[in-house]
Amino acid sequence: MSVLEQNIKKLQGYLTRFQGGGVMNRIAGVDHAGSGGTFDNTSPVDKGLICTVARGAASDIDQAANAAADAFADWRDMPATERRKILIRIAEGIEARAEEIALCECWDTGQALRFMSKAALRGAENFRYFADQVVQARDGQHLKSPTLMNVTTRVPIGPVGVITPWNTPFMLSTWKIAPALAAGCTVVHKPAEASPLTARLLVEIAEEAGLPPGVLNTVNGFGEDAGKALCEHPKIKAIAFVGESRTGSMITKQGADTLKRNHLELGGKNPVIVFEDADLDRALDAVIFMIYSINGERCTSSSRLLVQDTIREAFEAKLTARVNNIKVGHPLDPTTEIGPLISQEHYDKVTSYFDIAKQDGATVAAGGVTVGNDGYFVRPTLFTGATNDMRIAREEIFGPVLTSISFTTAEDALHIANDTDYGLTGYVWTNDLTRAMRFTDKLEAGMIWVNSENVRHLPTPFGGVKASGIGRDGGDWSFEFYMEQKHIGFATGQHKIPQLGAL
Ligand code: NAD
Repeated sequence: MSVLEQNIKKLQGYLTRFQGGGVMNRIAGVDHAGSGGTFDNTSPVDKGLICTVARGAASDIDQAANAAADAFADWRDMPATERRKILIRIAEGIEARAEEIALCECWDTGQALRFMSKAALRGAENFRYFADQVVQARDGQHLKSPTLMNVTTRVPIGPVGVITPWNTPFMLSTWKIAPALAAGCTVVHKPAEASPLTARLLVEIAEEAGLPPGVLNTVNGFGEDAGKALCEHPKIKAIAFVGESRTGSMITKQGADTLKRNHLELGGKNPVIVFEDADLDRALDAVIFMIYSINGERCTSSSRLLVQDTIREAFEAKLTARVNNIKVGHPLDPTTEIGPLISQEHYDKVTSYFDIAKQDGATVAAGGVTVGNDGYFVRPTLFTGATNDMRIAREEIFGPVLTSISFTTAEDALHIANDTDYGLTGYVWTNDLTRAMRFTDKLEAGMIWVNSENVRHLPTPFGGVKASGIGRDGGDWSFEFYMEQKHIGFATGQHKIPQLGAL
């Protein structure tokens, strides 16, 4: 039996449990049907039904928010060392079920196993990392004044909502939920409707690890009903959101009446700038990896290649050959590099750019075609001869599609790189240190890598500027979001208090 066949067999075993009752909501440690009925969850690999999913609506969110509010005080007040132990046990539970998580994720999202097996383990790393921060998360400062001993401390903000997208759902959920729990918050999680399987595995693992009922609740459903109700709920103090920029704007509006604190991680149209003096072999590897890995359904993908005109022809020739060589296939085949796109809607969107590129006058140098009819497969695509005013250079396509634009000087490159609504990441390839420093200083992006692909280091700040987001995750920045600063002043003596109304 081939590895692919073995993986399919294992997957079928893992999916059996979802095929009876489907994916239920989980509120206060108990399974619940959705008050909005159910919806179908299909696989992008063959368009077939995986299972039904509870369709949560406002009343389910209300129940979950109340459960999170009821569980909050005990979770907040549990000794930090105890909370730390539970988070570490969650990490161990994820590691123990990493294969199940990875296989289910691939089938649900179309992402290739070579990336998703690592994403499952990164979920465990997120829990371990934030578990290690639990004990000092509430520490503050001592700011002495002439009359007062001022101290600060941090307290968890309360029950929070976490709303996640479908591109790497398990990893992104843990990225939000682990620091929220570490801070002492309780959570209502609304996973993406297109990929509900691994959110269910996560809540199960967490409960088995000893997380008290109600500390993590999962309500499935659509953005316009369950997601909206979560943003509007008065007991939910903050929303951690990952998704499209226009949804981020709706999240902000929906939370206005209840004065929600929002953290928004949104879209990108990120530039990778390759100068003629760069290590071009390494740059080529990174350019390819950062747009064609994870199906290009990656917020940090470098979807705009800015290549210096002196090396453009040779660089694009090598790029085209490599892109044509990328293996599109079944996501559970370990040799597959690109699997199917998530859904019919997304497939229609991504493939529409094949014509848009031609209409705008760009060249389809590689790909630009679909593969088979069974699932949502496309060939990795490269557009050359593009300019930055074309739609293929301005709009987030969110698929394995790269737009190449040439530039002459560093000033041109900077202008093109910054001429976008977005500002999530930027990648700069040059061996001129001074140029790299000047360029990164002016590049409008929340995260920049020089001579490197995106290598995530958990203590560093993650987030974007402009339409790519508001707020930062990672290290202590996560706690800044999930916690409130509190100041307490203790009088150190009998300082003079102004006396009003005294004769
Ligand atoms: P999306 O915005 O359509 O959906 C994301 C989530 O929001 C889903 O759970 C959805 O149900 C929910 N939602 C939709 N409308 C809502 C509403 N009115 N109120 C509350 N919730 C609502 O995004 P998507 O298509 O699932 O994901 C792809 C997008 O995510 C891309 O734009 C990508 O760049 C972005 N993304 C960003 C990051 C980052 O860290 N910046 C990471 C991954 C993905």
